Amino acid sequence: MAKPDSFGKSNRWSLEGMTALVTGGTKGLGHAVVEEFAELGAIVYTCSRNESELKECLSEWERKGFKVSGSVCDVSSRAEREKLMKQVSSLFNGKLNILINNVGTNIYKPTEENSAEDFSFLMTTNLESAYHLSQLAHPLLKASGAASIILMSSVCGVVSVNIGSIYSITKGGMNQLAQNVACEWAKDNIRVNSVAPWFIRTPLAEPYLGNEKFLEEVKC
Ligand code: NAP
Repeated sequence: MAKPDSFGKSNRWSLEGMTALVTGGTKGLGHAVVEEFAELGAIVYTCSRNESELKECLSEWERKGFKVSGSVCDVSSRAEREKLMKQVSSLFNGKLNILINNVGTNIYKPTEENSAEDFSFLMTTNLESAYHLSQLAHPLLKASGAASIILMSSVCGVVSVNIGSIYSITKGGMNQLAQNVACEWAKDNIRVNSVAPWFIRTPLAEPYLGNEKFLEEVKC
């Protein structure tokens, strides 16, 4: 029997030759997904807004022998999303096996203090980007013959965690997006799932996990 720590890397679980787009791969969960996929043999494309951090990550992955490339893209911009998918299509010959809609951020305020700009920024960055990138990726995913979309949701999309109502709406929306598109695109051999992590220590979560008052309120 495989040892628990080697199970994930055994031949029974491989992404050899699969192509993947992981948004927001320079930090946190996206970074971990890029590394895990690359270790399992996938050819990965990623993006983020900070060019120097992206370059640093790409060099590090090259040193590790991973097949990872990427470009600067702000996924809150419709035009930049379109450009990103063109780059992916050109690199992977019009086919894509895996899309990880990972980018997400938060502005933590009580509901009554949120501005119209806060609402628009979070909806665009977290939800609209995932919706539009899934639409743009659809022909590539379908062409691959066996594809998967993962939406990086959150526990906050299912229950109230007092982490901000707009953030939670975007995550609830991602869950509903996953359910709808999973049914629509099953005929195209595209699986669609959302995952709902609890707090994980990343640059995004760090300010919350270092805040005693917040931890007391959410009991974590
Ligand atoms: P993170 O540490 O802030 O990392 C986010 C990554 O996305 C970075 O690489 C960042 O790079 C990139 N990014 C942010 N905004 C972007 C944009 N507009 N366009 C392109 N790239 C962008 O976040 P994380 O904690 O890993 O969270 C990843 C996902 O998991 C999010 O959707 C989050 O809501 C979800 N989640 C996290 C937790 C948690 O506890 N950490 C729990 C539940 C769900 P740049 O800033 O350079 O662009």
